[in-house]
Amino acid sequence: MVVLNSLEQLTKHLKKVRDQNYNIGFIPTMGALHPGHISLIHAAQQQQDITVCSIFVNPTQFNDLNDLLKYPRTIEADCKLLEEARCDIVFIPEVSEIYSPEELLLKKNSLEDKSWTEGKTVDFGLLADVMEGAHRPGHFNGVAQVVSKLLKIVRPNKAYFGQKDFQQLAIIRSLVKQLNLPIQIIACPTIREPSGLAMSSRNERLSHKERTSAALLSEILFELKDLYLQKTIPELKLFVANKIMTDPMIELEYFEISDAETLQKITHFGLTKSAVACFAIKLGGIRLIDNIVLY
Ligand code: AMP
Repeated sequence: MVVLNSLEQLTKHLKKVRDQNYNIGFIPTMGALHPGHISLIHAAQQQQDITVCSIFVNPTQFNDLNDLLKYPRTIEADCKLLEEARCDIVFIPEVSEIYSPEELLLKKNSLEDKSWTEGKTVDFGLLADVMEGAHRPGHFNGVAQVVSKLLKIVRPNKAYFGQKDFQQLAIIRSLVKQLNLPIQIIACPTIREPSGLAMSSRNERLSHKERTSAALLSEILFELKDLYLQKTIPELKLFVANKIMTDPMIELEYFEISDAETLQKITHFGLTKSAVACFAIKLGGIRLIDNIVLY
């Protein structure tokens, strides 16, 4: 496994890879790796010749400075996991390698700033107005900014993303389409702990008690999957609200049942091709998200 920190090193290395006509699979991450991330590495390995993983805690996607500062950083353990998983290339850039000082100072992650889209207009429309987009202003612009930069640097054949971040996946698909990038986006299933809790780097910050409470989320999602054919959407929302109220430690930020393509709220089942139930909660100050595709 090769660990590279600079754009120059990475570009040189990838040129050699491309010269040999190898296909490249890319997995962008923010580190603090867990089996969820490693499942993306394995998915890439099954389809591609060379697997590239990046570890970069992207400052422009955090709308809460405290969240950025407290984001777990475990580079040594991450490299060990990637080595064991037989990842080929790990890219771990400093912030200055990805952003100019102006980009950071001016928080130029807005869609009006066209420097990172090479002059192209990108508009996520209603996709970015709901759920995470509504609760974390600027978050998806920051995600789109870093992902577009990384995709242009690595130029993979395929890039792998987790369904755990359902809305992010929709935003990235839209980004790639709007920028006409010749890259296939592959969605990978959510990997869960034995309790059902979706694996997340943020779980590390939960106490033992909070972790036990957090399992209620997936329990509710699995129940919804069994129940949705027998109940209306308002009934399901009430069911969820009542369940959440049984645990005073959990603060519900949102719960939505949405069209899985447009991510807009739906009022009835059956009118859309597919539907997804999505959650965001806070537990001991830590924000967790999860979702389940109902049909
Ligand atoms: P992050 O490091 O949180 O930015 O995540 C990097 C990638 O790993 C994203 O595509 C996530 O959706 C994906 N990911 C995170 N957690 C999981 C999980 N539990 N199962 C599958 N993929 C995940």
